[in-house]
Amino acid sequence: MSDVTVLGLGPAACLLALALARHGMRPLLLGSRRSRPAVEGVSQRVVEALRQSGCSNALDLLGPRWQRVSCWNAQEVEMNGEFVVERSAFDQALLRDVQAAGIEVKEGLVRSVDPLPEPGRAVAFEHASGRRQTLRAALLADCRGHTAPKTAADRLAGHTLVSLGRSFDGARAQPRTTFIESFEAGWAWGGVDPAGRAHVQVVVLPELLAAHDGDLDAAHAACMQMLGRLPRRFGRALQPTGPARARGIQPALRGVIAEADWLRIGDAAYTCDPLSGHGMFEAASAAIAAVPVINTLLRRPQSSALALRYLDERAESVFRSRIEAAHQHYATETHWRDEAFWARMTRAPSLPALQGTRPGRASFASRPVVEDGYIVERRVVVSGEHPRGVRFIDGIDLGRLDELLHAGAPAAPADIGQHLQAPPEAVARALHWLQAQSLLTHAGH
Ligand SMILES: Cc1cc2nc3c(=O)[nH]c(=O)nc-3n(C[C@H](O)[C@H](O)[C@H](O)COP(=O)(O)OP(=O)(O)OC[C@H]3O[C@@H](n4cnc5c(N)ncnc54)[C@H](O)[C@@H]3O)c2cc1C
Repeated sequence: MSDVTVLGLGPAACLLALALARHGMRPLLLGSRRSRPAVEGVSQRVVEALRQSGCSNALDLLGPRWQRVSCWNAQEVEMNGEFVVERSAFDQALLRDVQAAGIEVKEGLVRSVDPLPEPGRAVAFEHASGRRQTLRAALLADCRGHTAPKTAADRLAGHTLVSLGRSFDGARAQPRTTFIESFEAGWAWGGVDPAGRAHVQVVVLPELLAAHDGDLDAAHAACMQMLGRLPRRFGRALQPTGPARARGIQPALRGVIAEADWLRIGDAAYTCDPLSGHGMFEAASAAIAAVPVINTLLRRPQSSALALRYLDERAESVFRSRIEAAHQHYATETHWRDEAFWARMTRAPSLPALQGTRPGRASFASRPVVEDGYIVERRVVVSGEHPRGVRFIDGIDLGRLDELLHAGAPAAPADIGQHLQAPPEAVARALHWLQAQSLLTHAGH
């Protein structure tokens, strides 16, 4: 008998199911395999999450790390490498890891999710065999990616873009390398291997596609003509091995992320600009962050509201920081400021201020935090820079330190250190940090 029903069979679903099982919970996975092929980069941080989750099949599929070269703002820089995978194969390897861990998986399509008169949801499921079944789920983790049905309007959304990807043979043979290149109509990510196989994905405004009457091959070819360095690296003898494929892109934070019986995790909660190349990392880290939330919902239901608040606030603050980081990255490209793509992407995002924070002003506030595998409420320091709060500096619990000072404890770091069973140097650094935030108002500081 399962206690969490996980929808989807992508990285968020698989890594969540593995993490839940590791923490003694019993997930059931309901999902269909990815239907469209796509070539994507896997960052080192995803590799670490795969290791932590014991995903030996997915790790085996990665092969050697590729070199990564960025040609941005006319500067060519070699960066940390990445791994390159075909996503259908990668997701299938992850599924084998899930099955190897003994987790129950039902393959098929989720047709609908409906509320029940009693707590929980009714999931209408069509098995791969065509058989239809309605399952009752007490707690749903929706990991169906960006196509997971919306239950409310998006809370925040960025610009709509389109990606066109195409694979080729006949590239100049060279060590496995991926490239990022900015050009007047957008940016491109490409990879080439020693057998001369290459893949080039361009990210452009939807208008560019419209200007080619929706002809994906023609639009992709026009972008290839605009690229400078990448075709020089790949050689000019590229032969397409299939048609260009389009994928829509829009960074968006969904309206409702955490309800008592329905949580959104991974791209189902928010999507990022693929410029970061971290979509899978976001999915993996959101899955890991959801474990204490689910643990709390199942085992400490009296703290459910706090757990839901944690998941929701985490999604919103991470989404905001990714929007900001993408904007800053686009702004570092200064060569085509007047071109439509760059004019749009370098405009500062107008995000309403996050609730409960005042820009530039730090203060103590109670916030949900993770402690011993559960979500609990603790006093932390929140500011515009740290909207979810800072709890520890050098291992010193800032809330406890503040309480001690308010209670009139001796102000010397050595005395406080005795109270907190912590080294005086760590206490001194925490006091110094509070002072820098203008949060030391007590006599003697
Ligand atoms: C153009 C583009 C390029 C990208 N490049 C990169 C990159 O290089 N590196 C990177 O890390 N990220 C990249 N990303 C982002 C990355 O693809 C996603 O962030 C990541 O796949 C999210 O994982 P997920 O598990 O949340 O969702 P998904 O990977 O979308 O998985 C969703 C799962 O749910 C299943 N599903 C959907 N609907 C149903 C249903 N009704 N019933 C049953 N199952 C269902 C799907 O089959 C799939 O298995 C890119 C994204 C785009 C758009």
